[in-house]
Amino acid sequence: VWWVHNTNLWLKKQNLANNYMNIIIVGPPGAGKGTQSDKIVSKYQLFKISTGDLLRNEIKKKTLLGKKIEKIVNSGSLVSDNIINDLIEKIVSDKKYKNKIIFDGYPRNIQQAKNLNTLLKKHEQKIDLVISLKVSLDLIVKRITGRLVCSKCGNIFNEFFNPPPSNLTCCKDGFLKRRSDDNVKTVKKRHETYENLTKPLLDHYSKSGLLKNIGGENKIEEIAAKIAGFINLIQGWLWKIWS
Ligand code: AMP
Repeated sequence: VWWVHNTNLWLKKQNLANNYMNIIIVGPPGAGKGTQSDKIVSKYQLFKISTGDLLRNEIKKKTLLGKKIEKIVNSGSLVSDNIINDLIEKIVSDKKYKNKIIFDGYPRNIQQAKNLNTLLKKHEQKIDLVISLKVSLDLIVKRITGRLVCSKCGNIFNEFFNPPPSNLTCCKDGFLKRRSDDNVKTVKKRHETYENLTKPLLDHYSKSGLLKNIGGENKIEEIAAKIAGFINLIQGWLWKIWS
């Protein structure tokens, strides 16, 4: 009857208004994944799930898991898939995050991508968009050695390219820290890990038609605008399918 149809339509429109979507952001270390994810989070009210942040938090809190993974993270290799999959299952199974996630730095290899697919299916979700950021190794090294992260709020800055404004109340000198894996030696290893294990994901997601490539060397705001363009495009598509 007509009101069932109208109610369905209304519900679908509410879904769109609430920006229900899951996004993956892929790129080498220093590509700007974290910076761009933060922008998407505030524009579209999503949750950023950074496996790197989750792991660093365990290390900072000196948990059993933190002690186990500290050396691996500082060497630039990948933590085992089992550990990562457990962390991710907790998030994907939580209703609060349902269809509102931007995955930053995850999946990192084909096995993790397959596992994510299985988990999302189990919890009636899917990936709507995969964004790949491309940056040359030279620029990566410059960006990584200048990166500063606020230990209080997590804001990311760069002493050369994006210095913290002087009027901030939170991100002051005492709180601005360098990551222990942000040194030239580890960054080269992290880049190698990306080339060997993570890059094959691009082919994987390109085949499923979800992949959008974006040059990651432009200004932060220019890249953010391009990403927003892709998100608006997929939202337009969802709108057409649903209405
Ligand atoms: P990130 O903050 O994304 O640069 O990650 C920092 C480090 O955490 C990486 O170099 C890895 O050692 C580890 N890590 C982060 N995400 C993953 C993941 N999805 N799988 C395995 N290891 C990860």
